[in-house]
Amino acid sequence: MNQSGGCQCGAVRFTTTGDPVRAMACHCTACKLRLGSPYGIGVYFQDSQVQFVQGDVQTYEFVSDTSGRWIRNEFCGACGSAVSWTLEMRPGMRAIAGGSFDDPDWFTLDAHLWTHSARTDMCYPDGMAVYEKAIT
Ligand SMILES: [Zn+2]
Ligand SMILES: [Zn+2]
Repeated sequence: MNQSGGCQCGAVRFTTTGDPVRAMACHCTACKLRLGSPYGIGVYFQDSQVQFVQGDVQTYEFVSDTSGRWIRNEFCGACGSAVSWTLEMRPGMRAIAGGSFDDPDWFTLDAHLWTHSARTDMCYPDGMAVYEKAIT
């Protein structure tokens, strides 16, 4: 099923095709900082499942101080909204920022990661897979 979404100002728009490979909430410090949010939701697709249909994303690459591997943030140059990212550790895949879909509920979260750096008042749904650090 196709889904669509984009940035806050509407300059960048994307569509996705089919179901994500996985969708995860990440509480690592890199996600907190790049999203300005207590945790980030990444909805991971194969590259071929994601099409940018309007606008261009700008990129910022940084290297994780824990893994030593790069992450390339993709964001709208006009409004600054995080839209997507790619990771050295997941070649051929692109993550869409979970909050940027027009329908915020169409995907299901598979897990919460890096919860050892989560806010202490975080609560997790019953039955949710919760990992203190990364999963492969
Ligand atoms: Zn924008
Ligand atoms: Zn993270």
